[in-house]
Amino acid sequence: MSPTSPRPFPHRIKPADLDALRERYKVERDRRIRPDGATQYRRAAGEFGYYAKDPYTPFQEREAKTDRVEATVIGGGFGGLLSGAKLRQAGVQQIRMVDEGGDFGGTWYWNRYPGIHCDIEATVYMPLLEEVGYVPKWRYAPGEEIRQHCIAIAKRFDLYADTLFHTRITSLTWDEENAEWQVTTDRGDSYRSRYVVISSGTLTQPKLPGIPGIEDYRGHTFHTSRWDYEYTGGDQSGGLTGLNGKKVAVVGTGATGIQVIPHLAEAAERLYVFQRTPSSVDVRDNRPTDPEWAASLRPGWQRERMENFLTIVTGGYADEDLIDDRWTSTAKLQRQMLTGSVDTNISAEEREYLDEMADFRKMDEIRERIDAIVEDPAVAEVLKPWYRYMCKRPTFSDFYLQTFNRPNVTLVDTADHGGITRMTPTGVVVGDTEYEVDVVIFATGFEVGISGVLSGTLPVTGRDGAPLLGHWARGPRTLHGFYSHGFPNLFHLGSLQNAAAVNFVHVLLEQATHIGAVVAEANKRGARYIEPTSEAEDGWAATIFQTAPNNFNFQSECTPGYYNGEGNPRPVNFMYGPGPVAFHELLRTWRAESIDTVLR
Ligand code: NDP
Repeated sequence: MSPTSPRPFPHRIKPADLDALRERYKVERDRRIRPDGATQYRRAAGEFGYYAKDPYTPFQEREAKTDRVEATVIGGGFGGLLSGAKLRQAGVQQIRMVDEGGDFGGTWYWNRYPGIHCDIEATVYMPLLEEVGYVPKWRYAPGEEIRQHCIAIAKRFDLYADTLFHTRITSLTWDEENAEWQVTTDRGDSYRSRYVVISSGTLTQPKLPGIPGIEDYRGHTFHTSRWDYEYTGGDQSGGLTGLNGKKVAVVGTGATGIQVIPHLAEAAERLYVFQRTPSSVDVRDNRPTDPEWAASLRPGWQRERMENFLTIVTGGYADEDLIDDRWTSTAKLQRQMLTGSVDTNISAEEREYLDEMADFRKMDEIRERIDAIVEDPAVAEVLKPWYRYMCKRPTFSDFYLQTFNRPNVTLVDTADHGGITRMTPTGVVVGDTEYEVDVVIFATGFEVGISGVLSGTLPVTGRDGAPLLGHWARGPRTLHGFYSHGFPNLFHLGSLQNAAAVNFVHVLLEQATHIGAVVAEANKRGARYIEPTSEAEDGWAATIFQTAPNNFNFQSECTPGYYNGEGNPRPVNFMYGPGPVAFHELLRTWRAESIDTVLR
């Protein structure tokens, strides 16, 4: 069947409508494209460094470390915590956890804004629930519950013992003679570590829009990931009484903005929501966990739910959909971003055609929901997203759209101007209109970096003084994404030459399990080095090259955002194409059959 041949669709979108929709999407995308792409943003550093300061934990002076540990884990978010837990289970005694924050939690340490929740079901998102002996209280957990769970994991696996918080690793240098890493930090530490695990995250550094005059603004201002409760009052569940009587601007309507805005609207005298691209906002349907259900759970329940969710959202088959939410019901549409198994009984063209129709139907449903909730038709129109479902991170809320029915809330569309035009000492300007405000809150997201290594902020020098970035100059070279030849006993967590999924914590759990198993085996055999051969790296690079998902065309047609490099997608996607389920199986087989190939 050709992609344009008629096919009965049980929905009002007819194939004839497709061209009009495609054209509408293109127009909206072009309206949003900016020539400066990803360079439009400013780092929360230097003169804007105060936006990134830790408002939660006081900085404490301490002695510099000059000792030796068995393992260093860089990053205290879920990736680091899971690595620490799995290394502990592998029998590693001295584990030094290092993080720039003042405690564990990673993204859940930094993000404490009102309304914060995880949008993946807590039973599959919060890892090691059975190990810690906890059942989440809500289907979609509030941020503080997740942060407390991070702390509980750290305690359960005794990871607090040798932590270096408020510390950034500044270099890793391999010492061949002693077979260990020399580690330096921005706190004057210079110590040695046999193993190093890098799990420094992908969306960690807050970013600011490069709005002309942003430095001139004299009112109060902060980024959502460093929420200033001293100014706003209240807490993560709302009650922001400090904003009573104030004119408030919020910039950004991504996953964070959607959760924050209803709380700001409740407290502010006037709230201006500066929107550039609307999010798709689907039903949330959060609810407390049924205690009877929690009491009925049998050992192994979390693994079963996690596997079931991962299988379904990556396009695989499961007898039953245990989670049954808006992620699992839109699994087919997620294939464009994150691959999984696909129906090979039909041609690629037919598949794309069916996917596109399903996509249009879903986005139509999202747009209809806006009409049904938002009373002013002009405002409803501005809130409608015109792009394909996975072009931007889908969002979920049962409160956000309702906020625009409040008389104290004004939606300001900045799309025609590429965002906010400029800032003055007293407010925000869009086009020729100035909005005077007491406070500007930036819900403008984070810099995208695949660990500090690729962003260049963490120099790694391997055997014979070779820099890791030099080794990767013509593309990443690893085995399974974890380790590289010439850089022994060093492990990376992340999606590079590895896997990704909407529940990334599941991927991190598999990665940490793998690293723990390899280290355990190395210690059992008394191996000095964990390191792949050059040939193994070449083989894996070839596998990635042959299987990497090709979503370049899809991404090119998407509205700009961090998913597609602000309109400039990468031609090559360095991920294992058959998807995470197949990848995890591949790792299990490799551990059973080939683990000795990386041990010396
Ligand atoms: P995003 O990058 O998704 O959103 C940033 C927002 O700021 C966008 O709406 C963007 O508009 C807007 N913006 C940027 N520059 C300007 C400008 N010059 N003028 C006007 N608007 C501007 O950041 P978030 O913090 O919302 O989310 C980041 C990620 O964090 C999510 O994608 C998700 O992965 C994660 N997250 C997850 C949650 C969860 O529940 N699991 C909850 C919250 C966040 P535009 O779209 O046009 O660029």
